[in-house]
Amino acid sequence: MDAVIIGSGIGGLSTGIILARLNHRVVVIEKNLLPGGLMRSYRREGIDCPVGVHYFGAFGQGQPLRRMFDFMGVTDAIAAERMGRGGPIDRYIFDDFRFDLPEGMDAFAEALETAFPEDRKPIAAIIGNLRVVADLQSSLSFLSSPAIPFLGMDFFSPLAVYLTKLNCSNRLRNVLSIAARWMGLSEHDCPVIYHHLALTSYLLSAWRLQGRGSDLAEVFSARFTALGGSLICNDAATEILIEGQAVAGVRLASGRVLRGPRVVAAVHPKVVLDMLPEGAVQPRKARRIRSLAGTEGLFAAHVLLDAQTHPALPYNICRMHTDQEGWISDGVFYQLRAASEGKSLLMMITRSPFAEWRRWQDTFTGRRGAEYNKEKMSRVDGLLGKAEEIFGSLAGGKIIDAYTPLTLRDWVNSPDGSPYGIMRSASQLAATSALHRAPFNGIFFAGQNLLAPGILGTVLGSFQAVRQIMGNDNFAPVFEAILQETGTRGRTGRT
Ligand SMILES: Cc1cc2nc3c(=O)[nH]c(=O)nc-3n(C[C@H](O)[C@H](O)[C@H](O)COP(=O)(O)OP(=O)(O)OC[C@H]3O[C@@H](n4cnc5c(N)ncnc54)[C@H](O)[C@@H]3O)c2cc1C
Repeated sequence: MDAVIIGSGIGGLSTGIILARLNHRVVVIEKNLLPGGLMRSYRREGIDCPVGVHYFGAFGQGQPLRRMFDFMGVTDAIAAERMGRGGPIDRYIFDDFRFDLPEGMDAFAEALETAFPEDRKPIAAIIGNLRVVADLQSSLSFLSSPAIPFLGMDFFSPLAVYLTKLNCSNRLRNVLSIAARWMGLSEHDCPVIYHHLALTSYLLSAWRLQGRGSDLAEVFSARFTALGGSLICNDAATEILIEGQAVAGVRLASGRVLRGPRVVAAVHPKVVLDMLPEGAVQPRKARRIRSLAGTEGLFAAHVLLDAQTHPALPYNICRMHTDQEGWISDGVFYQLRAASEGKSLLMMITRSPFAEWRRWQDTFTGRRGAEYNKEKMSRVDGLLGKAEEIFGSLAGGKIIDAYTPLTLRDWVNSPDGSPYGIMRSASQLAATSALHRAPFNGIFFAGQNLLAPGILGTVLGSFQAVRQIMGNDNFAPVFEAILQETGTRGRTGRT
């Protein structure tokens, strides 16, 4: 094998697809019975429950995600519907006002100006910067360079600092801050550049899967194997083998050994450290990785509702609360989707730090006991109460599932159940950029921890991982091929 990839989430599989397309012999290893990681949905009572793909951005014709998927050869197999046509993508509800997020930069600028006429100056500055980032994103230049291009100090400061400097009103601040939450960051932690990347990707276009997350996982697995890649499921990687000064392969839980000169870890970096022999990574480097803070845990619930009284909504809802200083303190993300004949599925996601579930940390999914289930149900009741303020009476709704940070921890091996991996906060920017360099010769990171979380961020990271594996010079013609094959040169995708 040329490369052994650990983890079959969208990060591992897309890295595998790109490498296989470039004629590398690749194997992907997955600990779970089925591939897909967070992109795979699960079923409860015959209903499909999404996990890590509620919506995604930049999938329109000629836009970055679609172009990368085009190169990988998966676009045509993905059934997705565009959100926001003739209405909002997201509805933000605060205690005293509401804002509808439209598709398109011009529409967004107009909506901000209408909602916050006193903020014309900061809005102009912000929209100007968002356009710079949108053009950068659309040019795919993130694929060809090892680091995020330096656009000025403001882009690397926390969003809250930047918005304060611009003298934004509290309401404008609140509306803008929500995009940071999509990556598990508060406005105080989120660097402006990550915020702008996330926000512009959804402004370019926002999409939902028409089918199931599991279908998406199958599309990626099928494409990988069709290109000659091998996929091994139900067998965790337990050890990265080192011989002399080089990587020699991976040992699996079954005892099987897969030999290869490169290991791509599309799993959490802390998990990678545990697989390496003592002393393989320089102590300073190992300490740095171990000290990285993760994104805060989530609690999610799925409730089945009568579709007549609660029909599916074509947009998401974020109900947010603010603190005394006017910054966002907490909130709930809702999606109300068609589920089955006559039924809608209400999904509710809110923050829930791992510490809240620590007393069950030594238990495993399905065997955590009655107290844990009771705690979960009491939280769902609390969420339902809040949801009724938005959706009206939910009497008759049937709770079909709820999950905690422990569920995510066990499902994808994410330390403390961190949903979006390590926190890409302004204060951790330097430390996280260290992940661009292999912790040991022949080991490469991929997945949401390499560059950025989310479907777009993770797939961008896969191309980055391939660039690192091949080296800049060998990757240059690949980058040219991506540009040639997937779009017109210089197309901005601007809306
Ligand atoms: C609740 C939630 C909602 C989200 N919603 C969205 C959204 O709407 N839009 C969006 O763009 N992003 C969303 N995200 C983020 C997005 O899902 C992730 O950024 C992305 O799926 C991460 O992919 P990955 O491949 O890096 O990791 P994962 O999907 O976690 O894949 C890692 C894989 O490695 C496997 N693994 C771990 N350890 C081992 C081992 N030792 N041996 C073998 N295999 C191993 C795991 O089982 C897993 O399959 C959401 C995330 C969560 C948690």
